[in-house]
Amino acid sequence: MSATPSLSGPSGHALPSYLQADQLGPWGIYLQQVDRVIPYLGHLARWAETLKRPKRALIVDVPIELDNGTIAHFEGYRVQHNTSRGPGKGGVRFHQDVTLSEVMALSAWMSVKNAAVNVPYGGAKGGIRVDPKTLSRGELERMTRRYTSEIGIIIGPTKDIPAPDVNTNEQIMAWMMDTYSMNQGATATGVVTGKPIDLGGSLGRREATGRGVFTVGSEAARHIGMDLGQARVAVQGFGNVGSIAAKLFAQAGARVVAVQDHAGTIYQPAGLDLPALLAHAAREGTVMGFQPAETIANDSFWDVDCDILIPAALEQQITAANAGRIKARMVIEGANGPTTPQADDILQERNVLVLPDVIANAGGVTVSYFEWVQDFSSFFWSEDEINARLVRIMKEAFEGIWNVAQQHKVSLRTATFIVACQRILHARELRGLYP
Ligand code: NAD
Repeated sequence: MSATPSLSGPSGHALPSYLQADQLGPWGIYLQQVDRVIPYLGHLARWAETLKRPKRALIVDVPIELDNGTIAHFEGYRVQHNTSRGPGKGGVRFHQDVTLSEVMALSAWMSVKNAAVNVPYGGAKGGIRVDPKTLSRGELERMTRRYTSEIGIIIGPTKDIPAPDVNTNEQIMAWMMDTYSMNQGATATGVVTGKPIDLGGSLGRREATGRGVFTVGSEAARHIGMDLGQARVAVQGFGNVGSIAAKLFAQAGARVVAVQDHAGTIYQPAGLDLPALLAHAAREGTVMGFQPAETIANDSFWDVDCDILIPAALEQQITAANAGRIKARMVIEGANGPTTPQADDILQERNVLVLPDVIANAGGVTVSYFEWVQDFSSFFWSEDEINARLVRIMKEAFEGIWNVAQQHKVSLRTATFIVACQRILHARELRGLYP
């Protein structure tokens, strides 16, 4: 497999050398993943280039007046990668390192993820290049509202439905829903998911991604004969995804031995007290300072003795530089794109089972789908119903992907891409090209 993915069709050109291997941006990594799946697409390979081109990418200027009277401009994006199977769907990220390449890749992974769990959506993603911690609440609200208004021309309950991602939450979704509704002249709860319960949000949505991580992790553990009651878990990222996944693994009897967040890494081989750590992190905004855990260097996180490693922070964390040091038997990708293709190969050679993002963190969008359905029907389900449906969908999807991986002797990532890309391209083929 070439380290340089083809950017285009038969007459296309290769990416320049400075974008190769671990230097590749997230979009380049996604292209490599698509190249790996093309040999398994049969007659649908004819349509594969569709997957390499986002349908629509919007860059918007987001000007706001800061509290000190000056004007600040932020760069915002909304990318709709593919809508063959339904409206675009995917989160909105506020982070100082957001780039168009990143948002494009995240939107493409949403296409794959939504098809992998078979919810009737295409893929989309959005973001603003900003460190929201530097903004006051008022500034954050003004920026969110202006961004929503700017992308309002392409989003909507039947067009493209945003949701929370890194540094965005229920409050941001409430402001987005309100802004869109004001511009439309009618309340449109279905324009975003991950809303507060009192505004048409769904029970179980906040915990859904972490619950999905735990569900596929448990299924995979069963397949490889790993006893969760004896397992040691290390988690990178203690936000929505990482903290809930850690809590559910601890409830299943596993020992969470290390946690890393933006401020540092804590380590306690006997197992961290999760309820106490959750309370500490909610109070302090970080896991750092939690007693009696010790603090270790961030880089030492990759050497921690553990059975399960859960990257649940940002992209490109597991690289060729640290993949050889990982002790875990299983990596569950709570984050999107945390493993570079080179690192993926190293882990596979070392027999470390990687549960890829495109299935492992699909619990969030699955319950987002439930939220959207509930909003349309204005009829709301109980939390037990939602969790039961979520677990059933995740288990069935994982089982199908596991079988495809066995059948073709490929990684679970390639197997997920095979299942998902076949669904997307079959829909493309059925619809045909317009005109
Ligand atoms: P979040 O903002 O709630 O939490 C992010 C966590 O990562 C925080 O604990 C933060 O301290 C930590 N972090 C940030 N930079 C870090 C660094 N350099 N090193 C270590 N830790 C760092 O975000 P989230 O919603 O939990 O999302 C985490 C990941 O999961 C992202 O990749 C996101 O795209 C993905 N994801 C989220 C959802 C969802 O429903 N929230 C769904 C699917 C995928």
